[in-house]
Amino acid sequence: MNTEGLISIIKNIAEKIDMEKDFLGELDSFIGDGDHGINMARGFNEVKKKLPEFSSLEPAELLKSVGMTLVATVGGASGPLYGTAFMKAGAALKGKENFDINDFVSALELAIEGVMKRGRSTQGEKTMLDSMIPSLTALKTSLANGDDSITALREAVAAAEDGVYYTKTIAATKGRASYLGVRSIGYQDPGATSYKMIIESVYETLKQ
Ligand code: ADP
Ligand code: MG
Repeated sequence: MNTEGLISIIKNIAEKIDMEKDFLGELDSFIGDGDHGINMARGFNEVKKKLPEFSSLEPAELLKSVGMTLVATVGGASGPLYGTAFMKAGAALKGKENFDINDFVSALELAIEGVMKRGRSTQGEKTMLDSMIPSLTALKTSLANGDDSITALREAVAAAEDGVYYTKTIAATKGRASYLGVRSIGYQDPGATSYKMIIESVYETLKQ
């Protein structure tokens, strides 16, 4: 995978987020303020617009620029969190013109670490981390079992989906939804859902 491949992944993420913005907004309206869809679509549409300028960058620089664009445009809690995730993912690919699935694993590890630090959050608090962390674990397990990268990514998507369902069963202790306490139980977390869409876009792009 090189910059060109990464650009098609990011373009597909942006298109999926834009297509799903109403759904993400609806999810956020149940337990937050209803802006997660427009926040994410604003950020990723801006990223998509800038992709032609980013095409001369190495993967690390490209991801850093995507992250910075998200921080500057998303607004809401998810902006700095996803922004940090993309910037940290970039740091893991530093100096590489090409990267493989193992580099992608390292990128996700750093991204998750970045979200946890920035959000002072951990697994089980009804946030994006509840799809990110199990998804990465499934990816690593599948690769360790000798599966090819497409199979491993399919496992990662399935685990992210399970993570989204899991967020329905717990109360939020971080973010806006935490104001609802136990009344947030029964609703799926918007950020966990948008991450599932992101990893699904990665899988769908690579499968082609
Ligand atoms: P806001 O909550 O400011 O309106 P968004 O609606 O765009 O921002 O994003 C909400 C999502 O951000 C939540 O669904 C959750 O997944 C994620 N989130 C909020 N706070 C945290 C945190 N401290 N750590 C990780 N994720 C968080
Ligand atoms: Mg919101």
